[in-house]
Amino acid sequence: MKKGGLGLNLKLSLPPPEEVSKFLTQSGTFMDGDLLVNKDGVRIVSQGSVEAPPPIKPTDNQMSLADIDTIKVIGKGNGGIVQLVQHKWTGQFFALKVIQMNIEECARRQIAQELKINQSSQCPHIVVCYQSFYDNGAISIILEYMDGGSLADFLKKVKSIPEPYLAAISKQVLQGLIYLHHDRHIIHRDLKPSNLLINHQGEVKITDFGVSAIMASTSGQANTFVGTYNYMSPERIIGGKYGSKSDIWSLGLVLLECATGHFPYTPREQEEGWTNFYELMEAIVEEAPPSAPSDEFSPEFCSFISACVQKDPKDRQSAPELMHHPFLSLYDDLNVDLASYFRNAGSPLATF
Ligand code: ATP
Ligand code: MG
Repeated sequence: MKKGGLGLNLKLSLPPPEEVSKFLTQSGTFMDGDLLVNKDGVRIVSQGSVEAPPPIKPTDNQMSLADIDTIKVIGKGNGGIVQLVQHKWTGQFFALKVIQMNIEECARRQIAQELKINQSSQCPHIVVCYQSFYDNGAISIILEYMDGGSLADFLKKVKSIPEPYLAAISKQVLQGLIYLHHDRHIIHRDLKPSNLLINHQGEVKITDFGVSAIMASTSGQANTFVGTYNYMSPERIIGGKYGSKSDIWSLGLVLLECATGHFPYTPREQEEGWTNFYELMEAIVEEAPPSAPSDEFSPEFCSFISACVQKDPKDRQSAPELMHHPFLSLYDDLNVDLASYFRNAGSPLATF
């Protein structure tokens, strides 16, 4: 898609951003007279229309890179950078992820296909992908902005997360996984703390599904994948067949790390961490799975982790099964408020 390809030269008289946001609905669509924005992009609808606007099609006028201003860089990953951007007309914030990638035409088509899957996601626990472009050797993806950053960022500030909050976080991640696995038949493949994003409303959402598949498939061979293998299930490491249970393994490791404050596998020689990553791979495949120390955590939490990190995927529970695990309802009486926990435990967030 070419830059600035909207062809929209209409003069808009929009209310200030805080007014516009009042029209934001649960589904992520907002409308004010002549402007309608949702996950498929931005479009102009006729002014004064009393009828409901026609549904937005991806082929309609869409948001382009020319419509956004860069505010600042908010994160860096292996594949590229993530910036906080603002939509020029509405003031709405988005995250723009730019992945540098010089690729062939056929790989580009495959990426477009993968990103379409992302764009059609409709789940409150999956980060919305509004638009994606391929331009001049880079893939740009406009994502829902999550103002609390990632769980990895948050964990750096708080060191560890108490069980009641972890139960509330787990419920949301499991809902996202149920949507991916059972409604969409998608395996995330790269579940890790930096791919779980949080916001000041206390929401937790999964991001970057499909991105690891793109990176793997376009880098030629799966073993040239650049990313972390830390959360990868034993069956994936040995190159066997894997399914959605592979994400459940990763979830178990992520939650255990959040609870204890450190990655569950420790190098044999307690030195500077895993200098040789083959050693870590070997430990994941060969050693008994990690567990939550029973003297520090509730039996319910220990059992939940164990239900996730069984080495044989057949012994692992699925996301819907885990949703009924007693750990998730253990702290229901506390009415945990994740919103104030995220707001108060970390440092001030960008748009508060
Ligand atoms: P890797 O490249 O190894 O997968 P990563 O997941 O940290 O690592 P990115 O996905 O590029 O890499 O994200 C980098 C950082 O940008 C995240 O850790 C997070 O802090 C921030 N970030 C990513 N997406 C968003 C978003 N939608 N809203 C707010 N912050 C985001
Ligand atoms: Mg990521």
